[in-house]
Amino acid sequence: MRFENQVAIVTGAGRGIGQAIALRLANEGARVASVSRTEANARKTADEINRLRADCAKPYCVDITDHAAVQEVGERILQEFGRADILVNNAGIRRDTLSMRMSPEDWDIVLNTNLKGAFNFAQAIQRAMVKQRSGRIINISSVIGLIGNAGQTNYAASKAGLIGFTKSLARELAGRNITVNAIAPGYVATDMTNSLPEEIRKSLQERIPLKRVATGEDIAGAVAFLASADASYITGQVLCVDGGIVM
Ligand code: NDP
Repeated sequence: MRFENQVAIVTGAGRGIGQAIALRLANEGARVASVSRTEANARKTADEINRLRADCAKPYCVDITDHAAVQEVGERILQEFGRADILVNNAGIRRDTLSMRMSPEDWDIVLNTNLKGAFNFAQAIQRAMVKQRSGRIINISSVIGLIGNAGQTNYAASKAGLIGFTKSLARELAGRNITVNAIAPGYVATDMTNSLPEEIRKSLQERIPLKRVATGEDIAGAVAFLASADASYITGQVLCVDGGIVM
């Protein structure tokens, strides 16, 4: 029970990697704010946690691209839980196409969700962490932010931006005993990747030295480590959880 008496906020907790992270932190004792874009998904994860440990989770529905709405939800979370120890900025989307054909709308929505969304939530929560003189912020980036990928200029820019954001915020908050780190997953089996064409999924899989696609739990384990006391001297880092794609 590494996170007993702690409160974790997980964005994109409604499904995929975020759901695995929310469940993992709850299983290790945290009370969880399950944040998702859709009410039904936010509630599904909160209900699943509450079935395991009564009254440990609450659902919050918000579009993370909306700065004002995120500040409001952040305020509500802080009121209802009383504190915030762990913030996992996980919610993200992709809108892939070659840059030559990319619409400005597809550029904006990916940057606004994956990068500005993390800024919005960090801004809503960091003041409370500063007052507590403790906190963990973990941003879910991607190996694509490190190595790039044809057809994903918007996604790669957002995930590389998240790494710069992580390092700068880590420097801003280090003096207040708040660590800020990023995780760069490789290829994880979720709705996001299930919609890729079969041949792309095959070629991605062949590039993984450990020869298997990650599960949400692989990523959740790394999040739990960075959120734990064992990682208290680690900040501003990018941890690749990718089966060896980047080395
Ligand atoms: P999914 O598509 O399975 O889930 C995305 C989650 O983000 C959903 O819960 C969704 O909410 C939420 N979300 C999306 N947009 C918004 C928004 N505007 N406001 C609030 N919530 C939003 O994605 P994954 O689980 O695969 O990915 C999670 C993170 O991991 C992403 O940041 C992704 O870029 C990153 N990642 C994923 C990899 C992979 O291979 N899958 C590899 C590397 C990184 P709702 O359910 O309510 O629609």
